[in-house]
Amino acid sequence: MKDNCIFCKIAAGEIPSYTIYEDDDFKAFMDISPASKGHTILIPKVHADNLFELDETVASKLLPVAARIAKALKAELHCEGLNLLQNNGEIAGQTVFHFHMHIIPRYEVDKVVV
Ligand code: 5GP
Ligand code: ZN
Repeated sequence: MKDNCIFCKIAAGEIPSYTIYEDDDFKAFMDISPASKGHTILIPKVHADNLFELDETVASKLLPVAARIAKALKAELHCEGLNLLQNNGEIAGQTVFHFHMHIIPRYEVDKVVV
């Protein structure tokens, strides 16, 4: 756990989040400022600032989890599409420096540009 990392605190349950998925390695929760209904943040529990630091074993487990969440969001929220988005570094738009993937459902009536 990295000092003052908000997503480490969410992973540890020290800061509340609307959690929709959790296992030994990952936690997924609703974004506090959603781009669309169901906008989910998926994080590894072990801190890495971004993809440049992410452990490869953790990385290899990430996409199956993202796919499960995407399918669950589609089934529950009936979105028509979905974006996976992942920012690395301030220049690329990263604002929280704990690796995370955005899972953003898309709806015909709610077209939003990220
Ligand atoms: P980034 O810009 O780093 O790719 O995305 C960071 C995301 O984390 C943003 O969409 C932002 O709304 C979300 N976020 C920041 N702080 C919190 C928080 O305390 N709780 C939750 N649930 N989301 C957060
Ligand atoms: Zn962290």
